[in-house]
Amino acid sequence: MQNISKADVVLIGAGIMSATLGMLLKQLNPSISIEIFERLDSAAAESSDAWNNAGTGHSAFCELNYTPEKKDGTIDISKAVKIAESFEVSKQFWAYLVDNKIIRQPDDFIRSIPHISFVWGDKNTQYLRKRYDALQQCHLFKGMQFSTDKNEIAEWIPLVMQDRNNDEPVAATKMDLGTDVNFGSLTRCMFDCLTQLPNVHLRYEHEVSDIEQHDDHWHIHTKGHGDNKRIVLSRFVFIGAGGGSLPLLLKSGIPEAEGYGGFPVSGQWLRCKYEAIVQRHHAKVYGLAKAGSPPMSVPHLDTRWIKGKQELLFGPYAGFTTKFLKHGSSFDLFKSVKFSNIKPMVIAGMHNIPLTKYLIEQVMQTPEERLDALKEYYPDAKKEDWELVVAGYRVQVIKKDEEEGGILEFGTEVVSAKDGSIAALLGASPGASTAVSIMLDLLKKCFPEQMQTTAWQQKIKQMIPSYGVPLGDNAVLLKKVRNHTTRVLGLNYSIA
Ligand SMILES: Cc1cc2nc3c(=O)[nH]c(=O)nc-3n(C[C@H](O)[C@H](O)[C@H](O)COP(=O)(O)OP(=O)(O)OC[C@H]3O[C@@H](n4cnc5c(N)ncnc54)[C@H](O)[C@@H]3O)c2cc1C
Repeated sequence: MQNISKADVVLIGAGIMSATLGMLLKQLNPSISIEIFERLDSAAAESSDAWNNAGTGHSAFCELNYTPEKKDGTIDISKAVKIAESFEVSKQFWAYLVDNKIIRQPDDFIRSIPHISFVWGDKNTQYLRKRYDALQQCHLFKGMQFSTDKNEIAEWIPLVMQDRNNDEPVAATKMDLGTDVNFGSLTRCMFDCLTQLPNVHLRYEHEVSDIEQHDDHWHIHTKGHGDNKRIVLSRFVFIGAGGGSLPLLLKSGIPEAEGYGGFPVSGQWLRCKYEAIVQRHHAKVYGLAKAGSPPMSVPHLDTRWIKGKQELLFGPYAGFTTKFLKHGSSFDLFKSVKFSNIKPMVIAGMHNIPLTKYLIEQVMQTPEERLDALKEYYPDAKKEDWELVVAGYRVQVIKKDEEEGGILEFGTEVVSAKDGSIAALLGASPGASTAVSIMLDLLKKCFPEQMQTTAWQQKIKQMIPSYGVPLGDNAVLLKKVRNHTTRVLGLNYSIA
């Protein structure tokens, strides 16, 4: 059986990115028709689900990989500023949805939790001091505390300081404005709302198998249960398929996709089973990644709230995999190799042999070795109090590079056709926290004329009052929007 239909927009994948884009589009143009296809039987079952990511509202308060030390010893805070600004944009959009009763405030969706960076040793404590000083130049980071006082740090993070070697210097920064976000709850809530709206259809267990362009329409081929095939014709397609985005982008055949490849990395957490320990930790504590390890393997000991319950996790333990999705196939990596990307993939692979070695070593880790890594952050940890949980998969972007031939990147990237009729999101960091800014940039690329109209500009300003103004440069506006989002989202910090 083959169904043929038409829609203004097709969204592939029911993760946070498609949910965000769908919500934005429906707010900007309520009559737009949207078809959403998801291969699994529920929304947010891949990277966006709570246990599949760390739930950190990335604001660059505690993530040390966003503030690298330059060759001259100074700290580059430009990436941190951009990420902190993006998270403020996300919070404004979520607050708009809640305030206007467009979505109900989902359970566990967002909670205040101190974001703490913790390091030990002379070199690292000096780095943290310099990082703190550099961040104090920007009001986005106002309110951050720095300490080398072991008693004070023990008050902040008792588990981390208990029975720690007393001879070694330690340092920490603490930012009470940090958050834990359940991106899975939020995504499902947005889809619940979207599917109540006219002209929106979300079709579960429909896998997009092919995308072809005919004249000015894309033909999206999907396979459902049994022989249930469907073709949807649309002028605009967003490939928000997470790890599944790269194969679909390559199938689209757009010249802009040439040379793109992917390098999958799996993840695992240790989850604390012992309630009394969980209750003794109240922070997200990020450390420094080990030399030679990829940025996404920064260790952290994290308070989470999932399904109404406080949780404690440590990780991630990265791993080598050939699957692009948690529910994917072991052939994903091999099937993604094409004539157009083989050179960048081979060159990037050759340049990143230490990374592959690191990932294979991570997979081979024994439970005792995993415990040793945890003990660096919680010296008293006991193996029997923790269990291993499988996290989501990330597909890091490989692309052509004039000088190197091929490079591996750790950020997110929107790849779109010149005419703006199709766009795909690749990569996974800083990810869900910055979904709203990523989708606003995508709208600028793919709906340039509509984005210039007064109607769309006014609506965006209503949803995101700081739109177009870098909050890193505007302390007054920052305070205003933080006050508003804090109140509406029920966060419990006070704005200085
Ligand atoms: C271990 C880990 C930790 C992370 N920690 C954080 C964090 O602390 N903070 C943060 O902000 N971000 C974090 N991220 C990143 C964040 O999870 C992702 O950026 C975000 O969830 C990506 O959302 P998405 O909608 O693009 O993809 P997904 O949530 O993966 O959704 C894609 C959907 O597309 C579907 N799909 C795939 N192929 C097809 C197809 N052919 N047809 C139909 N449907 C298809 C999939 O089934 C899936 O439901 C983390 C990621 C990982 C893996």
